[in-house]
Amino acid sequence: MVGSERMDIRDKIEKVESYLRFYFSYILNHPLIYPKEVNFQMTNRCNLRCKMCNIWKLPRRGRELSVKEMKRILDEVRNWENTKYVSFVGGEALIRMKDTLELIKYANSLGFHTNLVSNATLLNETTCRKLVKAGLERIALSLDGAKRETHDFIRGRGNFDQVLKAVKILIRQKKEHNIKVDFTTVVMSYNFKELVDLYFLAKEIGVDQWFLQAVVLDNTFRNFDYNSPLWIKEEEQKELRSVIDELIHLKLRDRKFIYNSIEYLRALPKYFELKGNFKLGKCMAGYFTLNIDPYGNISICNFGPNINLIGKNVTEAWKSKEFKRTRVLIKRCKTPCMMLCYQRFSLPELMRLLLKGE
Ligand code: SF4
Ligand code: SF4
Repeated sequence: MVGSERMDIRDKIEKVESYLRFYFSYILNHPLIYPKEVNFQMTNRCNLRCKMCNIWKLPRRGRELSVKEMKRILDEVRNWENTKYVSFVGGEALIRMKDTLELIKYANSLGFHTNLVSNATLLNETTCRKLVKAGLERIALSLDGAKRETHDFIRGRGNFDQVLKAVKILIRQKKEHNIKVDFTTVVMSYNFKELVDLYFLAKEIGVDQWFLQAVVLDNTFRNFDYNSPLWIKEEEQKELRSVIDELIHLKLRDRKFIYNSIEYLRALPKYFELKGNFKLGKCMAGYFTLNIDPYGNISICNFGPNINLIGKNVTEAWKSKEFKRTRVLIKRCKTPCMMLCYQRFSLPELMRLLLKGE
């Protein structure tokens, strides 16, 4: 057996082992494994007012975590064997540009893979260069329409051009730096008819991957109103299904470019049709990601546990009784979403892992 085959087998065994540990964690409401990712919500502040977002409306709850406090969390988390990714999100994370740059650099020096989600408003030649120099590995820019008027209607006037300008600067940086540049799209009534055009636009521009995520009616998880104009209505289902068929066809031609699985794409019409009765596997929000809000609280979809990490032991918080209660509440969630933490645990999935290593 050659070295690479041995690596391949070891890799598969590790994946299956981690799969099973997540699975039994879910059954027990107690983590037998650490999260894959730490997610720092750098701030709730934002310079846009997107139609589907309520984050910027949240009242300020004191001071935001300092860089020193976030570094202290990373110092502890670096000892968790399977926590490999650190993401910086918002609001708009780059409103705290200096802090975000310093943390990317620091996370990078500790060996984490780093990822940033941005609305592109603060990206220009200088800031893009600083981000790549800090060692940022992945950046995802939000693009919600193939047409300028659609995207700008959702995200604000002038943002479509700004995103395209920023993405081109970042792609130029790829010649010298190993940064991956992605688009993310929130799928909703205003843009679903443009998804196929968005695919071709993203391809033409040359981004690495395209992430789709079905709209969450309230991204602060307080009020869900299925009559919202964001929701794709029953009478639009037929058209949505045909768009999804085309996307699946494109995905089959080029499996890696669309990040979402075929199962995810197939489930999109059901999500809009079944609303609160939608079900797709088990929600792993309490296991895959350690989500830290701007004030240092661990917080998942408004289910708590609201443990404030300032000066606290993160491992104890991860394994605490309060967190266990949150994990039980997550199982009873009445507002199922298709955020990407949503994972299916099933025998076919385990077989795919074994056979294809996916
Ligand atoms: S979706 Fe993002 S960019 Fe838009 S208002 Fe919310 S935080 Fe800001
Ligand atoms: S399904 Fe999971 S991630 Fe989605 S709202 Fe419910 S608890 Fe949160």
